[in-house]
Amino acid sequence: MKLSSIIAALAFLPGCAFATYIYNDHYPSTLTTVKVEIEWFDSEVELNEMCWRIGLDSRNHYTGCSIKVKDIGYIYVVKPKDFNDHFRLEVLGHELYHMLGAYH
Ligand SMILES: [Zn+2]
Repeated sequence: MKLSSIIAALAFLPGCAFATYIYNDHYPSTLTTVKVEIEWFDSEVELNEMCWRIGLDSRNHYTGCSIKVKDIGYIYVVKPKDFNDHFRLEVLGHELYHMLGAYH
């Protein structure tokens, strides 16, 4: 399989975030711009129903997820309470990083 085919296939894989997971394998961002649509959820229960719908493993619990369809990145996260909600803002950045081509 050509590298371009592998990259194209990966572009449609959903990204995900686990609360306290340490990632060992990193593949850096390959894009410099991306258009995104963000959907807030009020709870991780509602969020996980969306993450499972976009194809993530329903045996896992996610703190955020995203998927790229054509050139648009769709990010699903629980809405941060405010600027001090560093965890929720970190998850938002994690998913945005996926939409810019990074994966783990
Ligand atoms: Zn991730």
